[in-house]
Amino acid sequence: MATAQNLSFVLEGIHKVKFEDRPVPELKNPHDVIINVKYTGICGSDVHYWEHGSIGSFVVKDPMVLGHESAGIVSQVGSAVKTLKVGDRVAMEPGISCRRCDPCKAGKYNLCEDMRFAATPPYDGTLAKYYALPEDFCYKLPEHISLQEGALMEPLSVAVHIVRQAGVSPGQTVVVFGAGPVGLLCCAVATAFGASKVIAVDIQQQRLDFAKSYATTSTFMPSNVAAVENAERMKEENGLGAGADVAIDASGAEPSVHTGIHVLRNGGTYVQGGMGRSEILFPIMAACSKELTIKGSFRYGSGDYKLAVGLVSSGKVDVKRLITGTVKFEQAEQAFIEVKAGKGIKTLIGGIDV
Ligand SMILES: [Zn+2]
Ligand SMILES: [Zn+2]
Repeated sequence: MATAQNLSFVLEGIHKVKFEDRPVPELKNPHDVIINVKYTGICGSDVHYWEHGSIGSFVVKDPMVLGHESAGIVSQVGSAVKTLKVGDRVAMEPGISCRRCDPCKAGKYNLCEDMRFAATPPYDGTLAKYYALPEDFCYKLPEHISLQEGALMEPLSVAVHIVRQAGVSPGQTVVVFGAGPVGLLCCAVATAFGASKVIAVDIQQQRLDFAKSYATTSTFMPSNVAAVENAERMKEENGLGAGADVAIDASGAEPSVHTGIHVLRNGGTYVQGGMGRSEILFPIMAACSKELTIKGSFRYGSGDYKLAVGLVSSGKVDVKRLITGTVKFEQAEQAFIEVKAGKGIKTLIGGIDV
């Protein structure tokens, strides 16, 4: 391993991973940079590929490098690169859009029809020593932000996109279902956007205990009753009156979706951020008669990473507290085992030389 040039953490099949020395990426485009990856967070989707070998229609057919939540140090720059130089510390946005299709031209590149996203088959992820990206998908970290925090810009950007989709504005009341990393970060972004009440909902007491001390005004543990009853109790306990302005689902769980619809006021906004079962029962009558605005949210788009870095830089969002452990690159699989076991909030994997 000592002589490896670009050691990579590769998924070969279900629960089958290996370290492989792959060629160092080349500067194929003058606008590209090569990054020496220093920290990578592991999220549900990585673990899902490791456990099941697929997510929906995305199936791992050929060995694929895992990881997509990374930050690192620029080690090479293409001849046309203007904003970055060797040695710059950057958060890495891991999906490259085609820039040519209608959604790309409309500024919604997360909906690109030809997206090449890290660790989504057939595209390799960032758990390697080196990774190539166009310069405009790299975000320079201010000096006071660590590379570990830089790796958290990916889930934070997911949260920024969700909260922007919800259009959260000052004084609004927001309920967030699911107190995992993305749910917690949604709470933090909603708070930063000026929400007056932010309520985190989860079925694990341990997660709620953390949420209580992190960017929420209160927490809620659903009981084993109908969604309408949980929604009523939540409204009462939190003084939500006729209902919340915004409900965000970051859990993907059917009961959360139901409670979310029922906890909203007439004319409220619902955003689906979590991915669970692909089809569920849905309280469509309530959605219709309350004239709700219902939106999806997928990854991140124009300006989301920039805002994520800005929120951390200004101290409005604390991502440090979500980092509960770091493992060495050689122990990458351990991080997957810990995430699977629900240990901690966010486990990072160090780069080759970290
Ligand atoms: Zn992720
Ligand atoms: Zn496109």
